[in-house]
Amino acid sequence: MSAMIEKVLIANRGEIALRILRACRELGIKTVAVHSEADRDLKHVLLADESVCIGPAAAMQSYLNVPALISAAEVTDTVAIHPGYGFLSENADFAERVEKSGFIFIGPRPETIRLMGDKVSAIAAMKEAGVPCVPGSDGPIDDNKKRTLELAREIGYPIMIKSSGGGGGRGMRVVHSEATLLNAIALTKAEAAAAFNNDMVYMEKYLENPRHVEFQVLADQMGNAIHLGERDCSMQRRHQKVVEEAPAPGITEAQRREIGERCAAACRSIGYRGAGTFEFLYENGQFYFIEMNTRVQVEHPVTEMVTGVDIVKEQILIAAGEPLRYRQEDIQMRGHAIECRINAEHPETFMPSPGKITDFHAPGGPGVRIETHIYSGYTVPCHYDSMIGKLITHGEDRDSAVARMCNALRETIIEGIHSNIKLQRSIMRDGAFLAGGTNIHYLEKMLGL
Ligand code: ADP
Repeated sequence: MSAMIEKVLIANRGEIALRILRACRELGIKTVAVHSEADRDLKHVLLADESVCIGPAAAMQSYLNVPALISAAEVTDTVAIHPGYGFLSENADFAERVEKSGFIFIGPRPETIRLMGDKVSAIAAMKEAGVPCVPGSDGPIDDNKKRTLELAREIGYPIMIKSSGGGGGRGMRVVHSEATLLNAIALTKAEAAAAFNNDMVYMEKYLENPRHVEFQVLADQMGNAIHLGERDCSMQRRHQKVVEEAPAPGITEAQRREIGERCAAACRSIGYRGAGTFEFLYENGQFYFIEMNTRVQVEHPVTEMVTGVDIVKEQILIAAGEPLRYRQEDIQMRGHAIECRINAEHPETFMPSPGKITDFHAPGGPGVRIETHIYSGYTVPCHYDSMIGKLITHGEDRDSAVARMCNALRETIIEGIHSNIKLQRSIMRDGAFLAGGTNIHYLEKMLGL
């Protein structure tokens, strides 16, 4: 299997780099770790067959440094590059450079990343493919003010102005009435021009109390595509996911089949390759597509736990040119899985808490999985994201997954730095969370924010 990929360069750090290394090992593929000067002691760097220091601590000079990554691939005779998530994973120019330099990019074609990275073109492609979208302007807002006001009236207030090139929860503005619409558009355009070098903005109906439900897909290079069901990621703080689960509470098998099949069909119609996620807002029983992520997600393990499919391994096999090993009818969701993100941060102030971990004890037992690069004596650097790991539990149903998560959180000991374990424990005891189906504003409300 994967005869053509003998060596993978892991263009990332932390838990996902370790996750990719493990998948490569299972497939008998050699690994190259690249790291910044601040990351010499990362667990996957210590475990990889080879490692290359690609620059100083600042991500701009290391993990985002394309020439340094390409030369690391060249000197190590790398065959393929796995971008993980974040950093360069959704950068079409990087994917193109990787391919032009003669390496395999473990992800979609650069044109697909570009198409999906621009929200106006992504929404147009999804509408065309029959994926349900949020009612909106169906394209960029132009200078015709009269037409814009009419369009907004047709959509109905509140309205959200969104930047086509936006990301990370930035470049969006809610408008409650006609009086402020044109001014809000001008402001969002100016901000988008400065932040994303692209002043294209569009309008969408603002959904007031939606849930975040997303579908995982896999597509091979022969045009086969399947979905692996959905995840609920509504527990968010400042648009950052905190807890994820699969399946999403209350979603019926018929809804899963219908929306999942539309996502898989969309993959076929755009010639998608690899793993991907269709993100939807879900309100009053309806799904509304908001964007597609063209990479592996942080929360992919909950889907792996309920479907038994190793998504990272599949990404590599697809990149190697293998046909999908599963047909849609092979995919069954078994039981329920929950993921708690573990962050090095103060549980009340949410301030990052880098520093030396003086003691670490991992939880265990049936249905408990931990994805982390930390160990006793490891120092969490201050230069990167504060997520230091993920705790995932699987049970025969949601209650048993929650019970296992409560145990696992109780067993986890991280000393020397602050972590959000206390916050995660309080979420697992929260009545509304236990009932299931809370919306994207719930966690902030629960925290009194
Ligand atoms: P980004 O690429 O910046 O993450 P998204 O389009 O995924 O942008 O939107 C980020 C978040 O903004 C969503 O998870 C949701 O909380 C909120 N949001 C986006 N569009 C809408 C909408 N039409 N109505 C209500 N909330 C929205």
